[in-house]
Amino acid sequence: MIIVTRKGVTPDELDHIRERIESLGLRTHVSEGEERTIVGCVGDESRLHGVPLLSIPGVEAVHEVLKPYKLASREFAAEPSRIALGGVELGGSEIVTIAGPCSVENREMMAQTAAHVAARGARGLRGGAFKPRSSPYSFQGLGEEGLQILADVRAESGLPVVTEVMDTRQVELVASYADVLQVGARNMQNFSLLTEVGRLRRPVLLKRGMAATVKDLLLATEYVMSQGNPNVILCERGIRTFGTATRNTFDLAAIPVLKRETHLPVVADPSHAGGRRHLVAPPSYAAIPAGADGLLVEVHPDPETAASDGEQSLDFAEFDHLMRTLRPFAEAAGRSLGALAEV
Ligand code: PEP
Ligand code: MN
Repeated sequence: MIIVTRKGVTPDELDHIRERIESLGLRTHVSEGEERTIVGCVGDESRLHGVPLLSIPGVEAVHEVLKPYKLASREFAAEPSRIALGGVELGGSEIVTIAGPCSVENREMMAQTAAHVAARGARGLRGGAFKPRSSPYSFQGLGEEGLQILADVRAESGLPVVTEVMDTRQVELVASYADVLQVGARNMQNFSLLTEVGRLRRPVLLKRGMAATVKDLLLATEYVMSQGNPNVILCERGIRTFGTATRNTFDLAAIPVLKRETHLPVVADPSHAGGRRHLVAPPSYAAIPAGADGLLVEVHPDPETAASDGEQSLDFAEFDHLMRTLRPFAEAAGRSLGALAEV
């Protein structure tokens, strides 16, 4: 931690700043410049967390040297983390596609979707059984029946399933069916939920909140990891901005920022970013050279009848087109894409 003092700081103020830091168990190192005096704080910086240093007379600015997130940071693990998903690894050489509808609607549409996307190279099946809807009057998901459908379809298709858990009270239930627990954008800072999924070892797909900075996302990750669960997959799904042309604004550059800051795998969700079917492919293409390890894409057998997010769900032909046209981007980035049946 570096403390920059106010211009004209008095010797008494400077002594007081040092005493305050030293009383917290750190050493101080003062460097007097022509304009400003700087106090370096040496020792366990965590002791300074939550201390209102800016309120000490004579302090103008405080800069953190170490990252506030530890377990998620690159400083903690030099090598990229790989998280197993069925027979592949997120964070490995393959770009992993997880595809499926926004919501689990019935067994037939799930079985159809799983069979289709698996044949086109998808490695995971998505589908919400518990849905976080903006309106309480919208379809809320099938609940446990939806989880059972996911488990049955996994048994037939071999695709591991990714599904959302919205509440601490559902963690045990959802974990008894799901391969990956999704924590959605609206719950990114539900600290009780993060703590609860952190107690398991099941991978967690943590979506960036609509108004969350990259730092907020990484601190949310830290909640999960500090409970002992190292298996966090981060997801950029667009944030709210003043733009109204797209549902959210896809923050492409957040992907290389995350890849630099953390060793964890990062996936892009182009569906919730654009909000429209024709807006799904471009961010998918861009995300791969930007460093994404995978994609989370909404696919529905008949988007116009979808119970949720039909506007942004690809139909099967569109998904095939996406998978075909993604391949050169993966190859250009030195990555492979799931084995593709002839389409
Ligand atoms: C979803 O994946 O269907 C979903 C609700 O996503 P988000 O939390 O990103 O809005
Ligand atoms: Mn959705």
